[in-house]
This record gives sequence, C-alpha cells and structure tokens, in this order.
Amino acid sequence: MADHQLDARKYLVHEVKVGEGSTGEYAPEPLEDEIPRAAGKGLDGIAKAPQMTRHEHIEAVRRGEVGSLHSWELVTAMDGPGTRMTVFFAGCPLRCLYCHNPDTLHAREGTTVTAEAILDRMSRYKAVFNVSNGGVTFSGGEPLMQPAFLANLLRGATEMGIHTAIDTSGFLGRNLTDQMMADADLFLLDVKSGLPDYYERTTGRPLQPTIDFGRRLSAANKEIWARFVLVPGLTDDVANVEAAAAIMKEWTSLSRVEVLPFHQMARDKWASLGMDYQLKDVVPPSKEHTEHVREIFRSHGLNTF
Ligand code: SF4
Repeated sequence: MADHQLDARKYLVHEVKVGEGSTGEYAPEPLEDEIPRAAGKGLDGIAKAPQMTRHEHIEAVRRGEVGSLHSWELVTAMDGPGTRMTVFFAGCPLRCLYCHNPDTLHAREGTTVTAEAILDRMSRYKAVFNVSNGGVTFSGGEPLMQPAFLANLLRGATEMGIHTAIDTSGFLGRNLTDQMMADADLFLLDVKSGLPDYYERTTGRPLQPTIDFGRRLSAANKEIWARFVLVPGLTDDVANVEAAAAIMKEWTSLSRVEVLPFHQMARDKWASLGMDYQLKDVVPPSKEHTEHVREIFRSHGLNTF
C-alpha cells in the first residue's frame, strides 16, 4: 500500500478535526515547524489514462478529459481547511528560485490520467471531507496551465458537493473562466514578492497578472488565502514585504495571510534533477524573523498566521 494511503487511514480514524472550515472557525496548527508545501509521492490508486494516438491525446486534452499530473495525497491542516485531497498538476510557467516542487515544472514529465479517474478517487473521501469541512485542492505546478482539465475536475467536485480550492500563483489567472470561478470555493493565492523587480527576480515572471487576478477574485467576492514565502536575502526586504501587504490589503475577499518560512527541504531534489539551485547556502529565517514579518502584515490589518 502506498504511503499516502496509509496516511489516509490514519486521518480517517484519528485525525479528522470536526469544526474547521473556511468561514472563520479554522484553527491553524502551530507554525513553528511549518515548511513550504511539497508535492505528494505518486499517483497510486489513480490509473494511467489508456494508450491513445497523438491525435486522440491532443483532442482529449483539448476537451479536458485527460491531464498531466505529478501526484496526489491526503493532508490535514494544509492546502485549505479540514482534511483535503491535494492533486498536484504537472507544469508551471514560473521558475521560482525557492521552488519546493522542481519536479512538477514540466507537464511532459507528468503522468497522463483521466478526469474520471481522479473524480472517482475523490468521491471515496466524501464522508471524510464532510466531517472535517475539508475538500479537494488543485495544486502543482500550476493547475491553471491545464484549464480545460481543471474545469472538468472543478465541475465534477462541485456536482458531488465537495469543497474546492485552487492553489495558484495567479500568473495564468486569465485562464480561469467564470464557470470555473463559480465552481471554486477558495483560492490559495501566492504573492511571491510585492515589488515588481523582486517578483521577477524571485519567479522570472511579472507581478502584474497576480495583482489583476486577486482584484478579479475580490470583485467576485471569492474567498482568498494569500501566501508569502519568506526567503532571507530574496523576499524579506521590508519594502518588499510592505508592498506585498499593500497588494493583499486591496482584496476585500481575503480572509487569511500565511507567511511560510523558507526551508531547505528541496535542496536534494534540485540536485537530483541536475538543476542550478541558487539558494543552496541560504539559511532559513529564525522564528523571530518570521514572526516579525507576520507582524508587518498584521500592522496592515491582515489576519496573518
Ligand atoms: S509557482 Fe513557483 S514554487 Fe510553485 S511550482 Fe511553480 S516554480 Fe515552483
């Protein structure tokens, strides 16, 4: 049995926390040991899509019937409220220097699976989601890089009455249709830096699409949890933190900010992939440093953890 299936049994029996939810009752875990989220271990329990010709594959992707995934797992008190099935998409347009999932960056390196197989697996946890006020989170990589596939998963989950969250940088926010927005209950929106030049240095991409996406979600009154990864020497400049807080403050549907201290857990992954990891010598921030940055967000009236 795969590791995450063992974990699932543990959560089912012992660790489901009743009463957590995205409406204010969510009780965060202690943050001392919190680290940036890493992807799951594999796709056990979800069958690969059947063999297709190249043309059939292109058509199935266009219709969102198949997509490229890295992994999935069941987690509690991460990736949104309650117990969640987190589905990690393969492929991302950003190149964050601190990326903790560098093995999810290329869609072609993922595994092709059907939306039906994922929805079938998701349906098995409905009772767990109900009792924990949990649901499914689409993460990655970048789920909005495969919008048709994501749309089908959101629709299917919504039809089953399952709470849905999208974990995204917002860079491809334009790919979110109004129907997808209606089918998504929560957005975990990463603001990787608050100043444009810092954002580009951190991710290799411009900041503005994330700002625009947050504004669009806010105008539609879709709940946002914003995330900021604190990396000494890269994102921790006070002006950069202040600018990130100013961006988030504009979003009236924002209910929570999470400041995640940088960690070196991905160093070996970068090395094993033969990738140039520029942050290999960066020391993670102290608890005091992290708490100080949280205080900056709080000073802007933001509900920060
Ligand atoms: S958005 Fe950044 S951290 Fe997330 S998967 Fe893409 S490159 Fe990695």
